[in-house]
Amino acid sequence: MRKLLKGVHQFQTHYFSTHREMFEQLSQGQHPRMLFITCSDSRVDPNLITQTEPGELFIIRNVGNIIPPYGALKSGEGAAIEYAIEALGVKHIIVCGHSHCGAIKGLLQLGNLTEQMPLVYDWLKYAEATRRIIKEHYKDYEGEALLNAAIEENVLTQLENLRTYPAVHSKLYSRELDLHAWVYKIETGGVFVYSAERCSIQSKHDLDESDEREEPAPTHYSVNSNGKTYV
Ligand SMILES: [Zn+2]
Repeated sequence: MRKLLKGVHQFQTHYFSTHREMFEQLSQGQHPRMLFITCSDSRVDPNLITQTEPGELFIIRNVGNIIPPYGALKSGEGAAIEYAIEALGVKHIIVCGHSHCGAIKGLLQLGNLTEQMPLVYDWLKYAEATRRIIKEHYKDYEGEALLNAAIEENVLTQLENLRTYPAVHSKLYSRELDLHAWVYKIETGGVFVYSAERCSIQSKHDLDESDEREEPAPTHYSVNSNGKTYV
C-alpha cells in the first residue's frame, strides 16, 4: 500500500500539476471516441499500449475480455456498452486479448475450475464458442500455439457477442460504428490487428478518417489454421 500512496502523491505533485488545464477540461465532461475492452490482467495497460491520455478511452475490463451476449445476463458489461454507444457516442469498439491470458488457459482446461473457481467457470461459458472452435478445428495444436490460437479466436468470438447488442447492431447498420479485434503480446509489446481485408468478421471501415488517425502499423503477421489473419 505504501507504494500506491507514494504514487498518488507523485501523481498530484508532478503529473497533475503539469496537466492542470486538461483535468479542468475533463471535469466538464468526457468525449471518448473509443470503447476499449480488455482483460483484467495486471500486465495489460490500455492507456500505456495506446499512448492515450485520460478522457480518450472508455474501458471495460474483466476476466478474459469477455462480453456476455445480449440478454444472457444483466451485466455491467451490457450497461457499459449501452452507455458508451448511446450516451458517449463512441465510434470504435476494440476488443483486445493478450498473450499468456490466464482466463483462456482456464478455458482450455475448464473441468479443473469447477471446484476451485466456480465463478470463473460460470463466467467462461460466455467463451464457450471459443472452446468449441478450438476443440474442433485446432486438433493439431498444443502448448503455446494452442493457447495463442484460443486467445485470437476468443477476441473474434467476443466481437460476435458484441454484435448481438441491438445498440451495436443498429450503429453497424448505419455505418456509424466499427469493431476491431486486437491481440497484445506482453513479451514484445507487439499488437496484432485482425485484418478485415482477408476475412469478413470485421466491418471494413478503417479507423475513423475524420479524426485523421491511421490504423496502427502492423507489427507482426500471423495466420492461424483457420485462415483467419492477424497482422
Ligand atoms: Zn487475460
